[in-house]
Amino acid sequence: MVLQTNDAIRVPGELSPPKRLLLGPGPSEVDPEVLRSLIMPPLGHLDPVMLEIMQQLEEMLRGVFKTQNKVTLALSGTGTAGMEAALANTVEPGDPVVVGVIGYFGDRLCQITERMGGVVMRVEAEWGKPLDVAAMREAITRVRPRVVCAVHAETSTGVCQGLTEIAQAAHEVDALFVVDAVTSLGGQPVRVDEWGIDVCYSGSQKCLGAPSGLSPFTINDRALERAQGRKKPVQSFYLDATLLHRYWDERQYHHTISAPLIYSLHTALRLLHTEGLESRWERHRRNHLAFRAGIEAMGLSFLPDEACSLWPLNAVLVPDGMDETGIRGDLLSKHGIEIGGGLGPLKGKLLRVGLMGYASQQGFVLQLLGALEQVLRARGYSVTTGAGVSGALEAYRGLGAGG
Ligand code: PLP
Repeated sequence: MVLQTNDAIRVPGELSPPKRLLLGPGPSEVDPEVLRSLIMPPLGHLDPVMLEIMQQLEEMLRGVFKTQNKVTLALSGTGTAGMEAALANTVEPGDPVVVGVIGYFGDRLCQITERMGGVVMRVEAEWGKPLDVAAMREAITRVRPRVVCAVHAETSTGVCQGLTEIAQAAHEVDALFVVDAVTSLGGQPVRVDEWGIDVCYSGSQKCLGAPSGLSPFTINDRALERAQGRKKPVQSFYLDATLLHRYWDERQYHHTISAPLIYSLHTALRLLHTEGLESRWERHRRNHLAFRAGIEAMGLSFLPDEACSLWPLNAVLVPDGMDETGIRGDLLSKHGIEIGGGLGPLKGKLLRVGLMGYASQQGFVLQLLGALEQVLRARGYSVTTGAGVSGALEAYRGLGAGG
């Protein structure tokens, strides 16, 4: 890159990021049509056309969350902003909060709850397994919390957590139920109203297939009334759901939303609803199952049992004695493919493969399996030539058309 000198600073050359195939835990690949929407002319944050675009976005988000909640919008910020907003609007200092922890993001929920002044009671499961729902119910009945939290799609372990029984236990003690659907929304069933979720949030960069920077968020009237009736106002001005609602629906200035990001999420959701939400879930399921078959045909295995495996996030155990960082490094430098590694206790032990949104495609599944085979073989792992690709193709045949 050519550097010019201009006064005291060194001015870098024009940006030229390499094209990667993003098959990690997020961000995921962005549909070219979504990318094109980023260069549409930016509108002001109170322009009537912008507000109309935002209303359409709200409607499409209600469809994907499967909710009637009037306050359903996209926060300016990533998935963590959704997490902060969910907790800021529900937890008051001193409130007991039961958090189901099945991995890294459950732990983050605990950390943020504590920062909000909540008193956390953790219910843990071994990483790679879902919560024991009876243990969760027991803790909820004993602690009688104000808020119960769970991660639907635990990206650090590839586990999908069942939610309806936890929702029921929470509501029996009049607690609010907060759910993290960052990795599942748009790629695996999420049914906010039917499952009894009071507050739910996600991220734009995973199964929705837009760049990161927005966090879809929905809160029901019960949770909102509680937030409005609290002794002290919600501690975060930026993430106060009532103020955000006034901006999104009553057109009162709150902050300067990013028009290009709104365009990108609007386009991504339009494509999602054109495909059909259920068809999209099915596409994610097919590609997950075929990828799993390919991985197993190579003699590798997944961390979670299939019964609780996520479709968008595939957690593959690193073969004994092999170097996780080296495998990922080779995939990136020799094949231009990004995948993720293990977090926390799974550091060095896991390859995390995202098949999310636009990236959930048969061509990408086969490309990754082929590249992984080459990388593993070069590092001394014994595998029959083409085993992964053949295993996946056979699974696709069994699953019928599509993909
Ligand atoms: N929750 C889950 C389950 C996630 O997977 C992530 C990110 O991967 C987050 C929250 C935080 O999202 P972000 O990195 O967009 O802030």
